[in-house]
Amino acid sequence: MADQFTFQDPSKMYADISPKAMTQPGPGLDSELRDRADLGEDTYRGSDRLTGRKALITGGDSGIGAAVAIAFAREGADVALSYLPDEQSDAERIAGLIEKAGRKAVLLPGDLTDRDYCVETVDSAADQLGGLDILVCNGGKQQHCEKLDDLPAEQFDETFKTNVYALFWMTQAALRHLQPGSTILATTSIQAYQPSANLLDYATTKASINTFCKGLSQQLAPRGIRVNTVAPGPIWTPLQTAGGQPTDDLPEFGKMTPLGRMGEPAELAPAYVFLASGESSYVVGETLNVNGGMLSP
Ligand code: NAD
Ligand code: MG
Repeated sequence: MADQFTFQDPSKMYADISPKAMTQPGPGLDSELRDRADLGEDTYRGSDRLTGRKALITGGDSGIGAAVAIAFAREGADVALSYLPDEQSDAERIAGLIEKAGRKAVLLPGDLTDRDYCVETVDSAADQLGGLDILVCNGGKQQHCEKLDDLPAEQFDETFKTNVYALFWMTQAALRHLQPGSTILATTSIQAYQPSANLLDYATTKASINTFCKGLSQQLAPRGIRVNTVAPGPIWTPLQTAGGQPTDDLPEFGKMTPLGRMGEPAELAPAYVFLASGESSYVVGETLNVNGGMLSP
């Protein structure tokens, strides 16, 4: 069985998974994706890189967050997942895979736009895991809108609350728990550098995440806590089918990258494992781009 260590041509991988023109309501479900994404279920091999760590991952039910959750568990970490109540079925499947890896899974559904939920979730994760070493702020909202004239004020507000305010609320709450050696990670995007015309609010939040984390990394490095981000390119996840892209654009999704294809969530997981583990002990304030070759500053 191929895994992340297999020698293969990256431009030819995942030829059997193609993006489909489809639309999902709400946040969307991984279980409803045609074709199903690779979260690493059969392709991620762990090697004790996070033994005994305790991690909280927002948006850990599906897509990139779920791939990170599976990888963290196979590397030896106990994992708490934050997600919306509508995503319970996806979250339970990922919890099953975490437990199958021999690790503890904690499910903490709720809404990231609610400050109380963010603070309570950090505290509950630390309480139920017996501490917290890794915080991954990955949950995010993306809704395309062609014209600024039509961008609803509520959407602008919710996108900022989900993507930026939750990062502030959760990192602040996590400082009560994180000891030296701990790591904070956030998911930004190629959109921080190359904003699409129809993702104005979303792209702006991703630039904010990048800047917040770079600044925070300077504050926390002297306390022994490292902050870094991962910036994905076009990745096949429910977010893209639930209003993230115009439905008719999906069949072409990712084809403009130098590798000529979209990425799979499983291809993101090693970047998060690297930044969470002691292997990256001298890496601080970095943005690790995982985007099929799209250049960024
Ligand atoms: P996804 O839909 O699988 O994950 C996003 C998750 O965010 C959802 O599962 C949901 O649990 C969570 N979420 C959204 N709104 C929430 C709310 N109000 N309260 C609680 N949870 C909420 O899609 P994904 O693509 O894996 O997204 C993960 C991250 O990756 C996001 O930050 C996204 O912006 C970022 N990203 C994705 C791509 C891509 O092409 N898929 C590219 C760059 C960055
Ligand atoms: Mg989801």
